[in-house]
Amino acid sequence: MRWRTVATLVTWLSTAVSAAGQAPRADILGALGVDSLGGAVRVFYSRGVAAGEAAEVQRLVESCVAKYKDAISNIPPVTVAILDSAAWIRATRAPYGIPHHNPAVTPVVVIVPATSAAIASAGVPQDQAQRFFRLLALHELGHLLKFAAVGVDRTSITMETRWPVPGWYREFAAEYFRISCLTSNDAALGASPEWLRSNRPTYTLLDDAERLHEKRNADGTPYLGTPAYWTNFSWLEHVIAEAARLQHRRLGDGFVALLREQWQRSSGPLTTQAVIDDLTRSNPELARWLRGVGAIQ
Ligand SMILES: [Zn+2]
Repeated sequence: MRWRTVATLVTWLSTAVSAAGQAPRADILGALGVDSLGGAVRVFYSRGVAAGEAAEVQRLVESCVAKYKDAISNIPPVTVAILDSAAWIRATRAPYGIPHHNPAVTPVVVIVPATSAAIASAGVPQDQAQRFFRLLALHELGHLLKFAAVGVDRTSITMETRWPVPGWYREFAAEYFRISCLTSNDAALGASPEWLRSNRPTYTLLDDAERLHEKRNADGTPYLGTPAYWTNFSWLEHVIAEAARLQHRRLGDGFVALLREQWQRSSGPLTTQAVIDDLTRSNPELARWLRGVGAIQ
């Protein structure tokens, strides 16, 4: 499970990276000199990524778009880049290995790493770890689907502030879409309740997620990036991913309708309590599960 700890904490950062405007544009990808696959979703890929592996990512992203195209009419065109560190540095200012996307360009660029050195040491077969990271392209697509579902302008830099939802729910939504577009075999890579119980850190509330981002150390330096931060935050990401998986089992394709209902109802920031109430309507067990692992009170 340790490898997934790394994977999930990385996914959280994707939102912050795209908001900071560091993500690449499609025209830069063309100048990288890497191979690409044409199609509804174009995929650029560095040497070291087999054409068949790039094609798998392409197939899954294309079928995810196809799956939602009737329910969500304004899904933007997407390009995916699977880059090694050399190409990554030329394409984006974000640190290597953090999947992210640039929603403000057409087509939207989703960028995922070709390799994943950080998790190679976690005792997971490297091909499995790499595949997991490459398939996080679906998580990035999930962020786009959420905003497209409610009609928020993806090119707006205030996208996240136009619909303020708790930080954990942004990740929940992206994870929900990712899980809904994977085969059951892929989706089985979740955290067990036993793991969550035996690895419980200091901060376990869903709302702690936001506070961890803002927290400072005693000397005033950001808490974000410290080992303690990762311990707490990666645990919360496990909970969020697992909650999304449990919810998907009950709600299935009904999540788009729920997002729209929440959007239409909201006159201010959506609270964690309101979200939990919404989710437990279709999944009464969810609140009990979240309480059991210490994520809500
Ligand atoms: Zn994310």
